[in-house]
Amino acid sequence: MTRNPDVVIIGAGAAGLMCALTAGYAGRRVLVLDHANKPGKKILMSGGGRCNFTNMNTGPGNFFSSNPHFCISALKRYRPEHFLELVERHGIEPVEKAPGQLFCADSSRPILDMLLTECDWAGVEIRLATRIERIERQGEGMQLVTSAGRIDTGAVVVATGGLSIPTMGATGFGYDIARQFGLGVTETRAALVPFTLTSQWKARAAALSGVACQVEVTCNAGRYREPMLFTHRGLSGPAMLQISSHWLPGDELVIDLLPGVDAMAALTQARHATPKRQLSTWLTERLPKRLAQALVEWYGNDGVLADQSNQQLDDWRGRLGQWRIKPAGTEGWRTAEVTLGGVDTSTISSKTFEVKELPQLRFIGEVLDVTGELGGHNFQWAWSSGVACGQSL
Ligand code: FAD
Repeated sequence: MTRNPDVVIIGAGAAGLMCALTAGYAGRRVLVLDHANKPGKKILMSGGGRCNFTNMNTGPGNFFSSNPHFCISALKRYRPEHFLELVERHGIEPVEKAPGQLFCADSSRPILDMLLTECDWAGVEIRLATRIERIERQGEGMQLVTSAGRIDTGAVVVATGGLSIPTMGATGFGYDIARQFGLGVTETRAALVPFTLTSQWKARAAALSGVACQVEVTCNAGRYREPMLFTHRGLSGPAMLQISSHWLPGDELVIDLLPGVDAMAALTQARHATPKRQLSTWLTERLPKRLAQALVEWYGNDGVLADQSNQQLDDWRGRLGQWRIKPAGTEGWRTAEVTLGGVDTSTISSKTFEVKELPQLRFIGEVLDVTGELGGHNFQWAWSSGVACGQSL
């Protein structure tokens, strides 16, 4: 790029690339800078390698933010069906793994290739392995000092994402820039992250590592009915990742191992209908065998149903319907899918994503205090905020 770019986008991730191609098609000279040696690393590793690229049911209710209204405008303007149309235009066949959750069939690669192809068609230049050393306001524009020299530009878009998976290039750079220009940054916390357990429960979970079952988990205002997975370190699976966004250190999780079943009524009925059946057999018919056996080991009192008193059945109702567990913590940034919190949105336009007092500086994507639930919402936020910003540049 021989002339100064109209806009420099920092971060060649989901939001940055989407913003770049949108601004490029609108006739802007766009330069994308990233310190990583490859673009879109999180896209490639997302969705278990198959990128859950959107959720057809995305709405503001799927997001956490100190300012819950902030996401409405962008989500309304660039919706999941718009991204799906782009995906299908590139010949990518979506697979709906759960209601509304669209994935790639085999690999996330086609989504990244699609974005890079569109950036190329839109005339976007992408410079990788470039360190940004300083950003300063220069009159109506901005100046960047980078490892590849000085760049003068009309606008800077910060699309550096959150703190999760530092080995993939995540940094707190976007928060530092926000603070440098006087913006607030709300408290950040690892989210969509597995839980770790303390010694006794850790050993029990480790013994069940690989066992999965459908549960309903509650914590604070959160309630999710999804699969749970026991791991060597503790508890994971969609139910646990989802509830981690509601969990604070010291909180207890309440897990219903038989969601939708009134365990007391079912046990009482079984004692009446099949009094000679072992309790462990009854459990095995409803839970994965290893988990059913473990429950009997942990709590004892197996035996035929006829020998179970009302109190014993009620104890089982509690264990099955309200299994209470206090995680030691989470696996943290190393494995978290997203960052809760981020750049405070109160001083940012929800339509253009510019800083109200400094319109040549903008923030999009996960770096903002807008975080989605599991299920493709976070990518939809990256696409929607990227397009809204790109259209207004
Ligand atoms: P990112 O995609 O993180 O991009 C930020 C870019 O900025 C990166 O390229 C980074 O190298 C660059 N950068 C950072 N610091 C600097 C710096 N100092 N200088 C220059 N460049 C910098 N969401 C879904 O919706 N569906 C999924 O299936 C899904 N799966 C996920 C699986 C995993 C394991 C993880 C970690 C996340 C997953 N997410 C998923 C979340 C999703 O990846 C993010 O929300 C999304 O990538 C955010 O987009 P972004 O552009 O804001 O940030």
